[in-house]
Amino acid sequence: MKYIDQERINNLLTDATKIDSDRFEAILKKAKLLQRLTLEESAALLLVKEPEYIQKIFIAANFVKESIYGKRVVLFAPLYISNLCVNTCLYCGFKSDNAQLKRKALSTAEISQQVQWLLKRGHKRILAVCGEAAPDGLKNIDYYLQAIKTIYQVSVGKNKIKRVNVNCAPLSVDDFKKLKSSGIGTFQIFQETYHDQTYRKMHIRGPKSDPDNRITAPDRAFAAGIDDIGIGALYGLYDWRFETLGLLTHIEHMEEEFGVGPHTISVPRIEPAEGAELSFNPPYKISDEDFKKVVAVLRLAVPYTGIIMSTRESAVMRDTLLSLGVSQVSAESATSPGGYSDNRKTEASLTNRQAGSQFSLGDNRTIDEIVASLIAHDYIPSFCAACYRRKRTGEAFMKLAKPGTIKGKCSMNALITLKEYLDDFATAAVKEAGYKMIERYALKLAPAELKMLKMFYEHLDSGVRDEYV
Ligand code: SAM
Ligand code: SF4
Repeated sequence: MKYIDQERINNLLTDATKIDSDRFEAILKKAKLLQRLTLEESAALLLVKEPEYIQKIFIAANFVKESIYGKRVVLFAPLYISNLCVNTCLYCGFKSDNAQLKRKALSTAEISQQVQWLLKRGHKRILAVCGEAAPDGLKNIDYYLQAIKTIYQVSVGKNKIKRVNVNCAPLSVDDFKKLKSSGIGTFQIFQETYHDQTYRKMHIRGPKSDPDNRITAPDRAFAAGIDDIGIGALYGLYDWRFETLGLLTHIEHMEEEFGVGPHTISVPRIEPAEGAELSFNPPYKISDEDFKKVVAVLRLAVPYTGIIMSTRESAVMRDTLLSLGVSQVSAESATSPGGYSDNRKTEASLTNRQAGSQFSLGDNRTIDEIVASLIAHDYIPSFCAACYRRKRTGEAFMKLAKPGTIKGKCSMNALITLKEYLDDFATAAVKEAGYKMIERYALKLAPAELKMLKMFYEHLDSGVRDEYV
């Protein structure tokens, strides 16, 4: 596989990389200065086994996360637009040979209806997801563009979707240019596994069976002008330490090539998907404890990169991972095209196959329940998309993130969008907890910031919506 030196990674995962306590403390000290760690340093942390050291890694990860992002956590909802797919990825319910799956590609009208449902619940950010195929003889890119245009066009009262991120198959530079001009935020693509032999075993048919076409997709996206790129590995296919160093090696390549790493990292774990036997018994299942370590080490290794956690994880696990570095979470997700409806709870009890889902979820809470839980854990739920709209993307974002300037903007926008959510969508109990949180956080603001927040709140009270800094 291009860019991934397997021998280098394997050599780093031997006893020779193990460190003494002085070296361990020196690496943590460097991380707490918000400096990016080398591959060797990251490997050393991944190899640590002593519980008291792991605890120290967790504390450092929390420190780094709060130093850069403050207390805000960004919320988004995935929108599965189609489960048609030409590939056979052994772990995925959408794989082409899953004859039992109810196949569906949403029409423009169906996409509008799904977006309306999400807007009425208070969602503002969408991750559009689909298999690699398009309906009715359409080219893949044309189907994606049609879907994105539709999502941005829908409005419910004063509410519109502010940012559409996309997780789709790799494209050519020309098609990425079209995707960019449709106004997407992040283009997301997971390499799944960075281990070449495993990659080839897991992706047996279709264009996705070429690992190089996939690992070079961020390069083409970047060449097309998309500078917010999300990468990830699917944990459970191969050794978790190898995958984490694979991800970091991929980031090294991006930094060398484009001068800036990915905007986000995702670390999905394989969830059971009906019709995909392998997903019920992943070959390298990762334990909860090791998974927490992965998130914490990534937080320390690449401090300025957002870490995303989806509803694949349970509510308890997601709450824990927030303190270890996660900065964005999905909420109230459905993983089947057309899955958002008022019968969601009933639909959640259907099998994946009946519902046409990709995999089953670990967290079925509503957005209101997730907002309540974030507030209870003292995190500010944020519906902000300001950076992308103010063109603070790619290198421009990193320039603000590195001196810590972004934190002030993130907190201000989180407090503005939280009040907007509370005023317009929250249940009475969540409103009460949320307004109290705002009072608490307002006390921490400098006088000029407090003045600004009050101004935005007056605007909100007079009916203005969607302001940001
Ligand atoms: N089809 C496109 C692709 O594969 O890149 C994009 C959409 S695919 C639905 C999004 C991601 O879902 C995949 O990259 C994979 O990591 C993840 N996924 C697939 N099967 C899964 C499973 N059983 N459990 C958890 N995540 C899974
Ligand atoms: Fe298709 Fe993506 Fe699922 Fe593979 S992971 S079968 S490409 S939808």
